[in-house]
Amino acid sequence: MKRLLRGGTVINGSGAVLADVLLDGEKVAAVGRNLDAAGAEVVDAAGMLLLPGFIDAHTHFDLDVCSTTTADDFAAGTRSALRGGTTTVVDFACPNKGESLQYGLDLWHRKADGRCACDYGFHMTIDDWNGQIRAELPAMFDAGISSFKMYMTYPAMMIGDRDLFEALTAIGELGGIAGVHCENSGVIDALIARRLAAGETGPGSHPLSRPAPLEAEAVGHLLRMAQVAGTPVVIVHLSAEESLLEVRAARARGQKVYVETCPHYLLLDDRVYFQEDYSAAARYVCAPPLRKPTDCSALAAALSADEIQTISTDHCSFTLAQKDAGRDDFTRIPGGLPGVETRGTLIYSALAAPGTLSLSQMVRVLSEQPAKLYGMWPRKGVIAPGCDADIVVYDPDADTVIAAADQLSAAGYTPYEGFRTRGSIRSVYLRGTLAVDRGQVLEDRLGQYVKREKPIFF
Ligand code: MN
Repeated sequence: MKRLLRGGTVINGSGAVLADVLLDGEKVAAVGRNLDAAGAEVVDAAGMLLLPGFIDAHTHFDLDVCSTTTADDFAAGTRSALRGGTTTVVDFACPNKGESLQYGLDLWHRKADGRCACDYGFHMTIDDWNGQIRAELPAMFDAGISSFKMYMTYPAMMIGDRDLFEALTAIGELGGIAGVHCENSGVIDALIARRLAAGETGPGSHPLSRPAPLEAEAVGHLLRMAQVAGTPVVIVHLSAEESLLEVRAARARGQKVYVETCPHYLLLDDRVYFQEDYSAAARYVCAPPLRKPTDCSALAAALSADEIQTISTDHCSFTLAQKDAGRDDFTRIPGGLPGVETRGTLIYSALAAPGTLSLSQMVRVLSEQPAKLYGMWPRKGVIAPGCDADIVVYDPDADTVIAAADQLSAAGYTPYEGFRTRGSIRSVYLRGTLAVDRGQVLEDRLGQYVKREKPIFF
């Protein structure tokens, strides 16, 4: 079937142009002025922004954390994603220590296959390192996995400097990319122990035991290891201004370093943790924690200066009842925020509409650059002939207010309650099919696994 989106403004990472977009089946067939509408259903897109479907390269659906499971499984999470204009997610397959990568990959396929509303791929978590896991890496690339995740904190996940270095080296040799959670584990453990010993068990102790310098230290530590390994890395969910200083230093040495941040580090700050009401504070617990308002503005400035390449959500949702597990001990609060549905609208409203980011810059961090880094370019991340017809139709005049009651996530709350948006999503096409229209998800089982190629380093 052919569809002609007529007269919208097509925004790509490379620029904006007033044009028609012709969809033919699952692909974009043409972009240009006054395209021939013969045989096509014509959709009036005058006054609309036509954006490449958003890619959220950091989600956690159906994940066991802190003896509980995220509120959103793949069905709920990808429906929520799609409604928010995200046509592709990259989730983290996560084998436990002692399990093979293939076991983890099979498990994540069982969680996701046949249940997803948007397209999906997996990063592979490496939380164990030995000769067998090293030997599995080429098979992972063959299975469409070209990016790997490692942790410098969390005992269940971290592998230590020696193994982290060996894994970085091996991933680099194979042409892949590593994303790393950077926080200094040992000092955080010491600070947590102090607060618990002092009886300071509330959510306010969470940010106080994970201060920004301990993220920056780990970023610098990782980047020095990556320098020796010669491997490009992504600093996932970078939250602090001090961490940016480490990134700048590594780039000045000539290293390839990519930075991901998240809407909550741009729009929220750590004052929320110091509310009297437990539930009001605990809902914001995530790691790294929310930072200071000065960090939020430093991240916005870094985005504006093209120092940050991707904005993902780290969507990891728990209900307030689940968050209750930490009433007597903040370390038992399951960490993570919902956000997969609101990312595009928030970034447009808070950064693009006010002019902090150009529309093309916004498309680069939401779509183009995640597509390149995670091996999906140019199939995804751009509106151009031959690419997947994943398109967000954004109405810049349809302002709205974000409310939990209007969200599809099973979290039951949104960190952005009451946020006034600038415009909103009118409709979403997933590979040529109208999948969301005026807030209604029309198709919720069309998501396909994306077998990803190697990263394009830029
Ligand atoms: Mn995460």
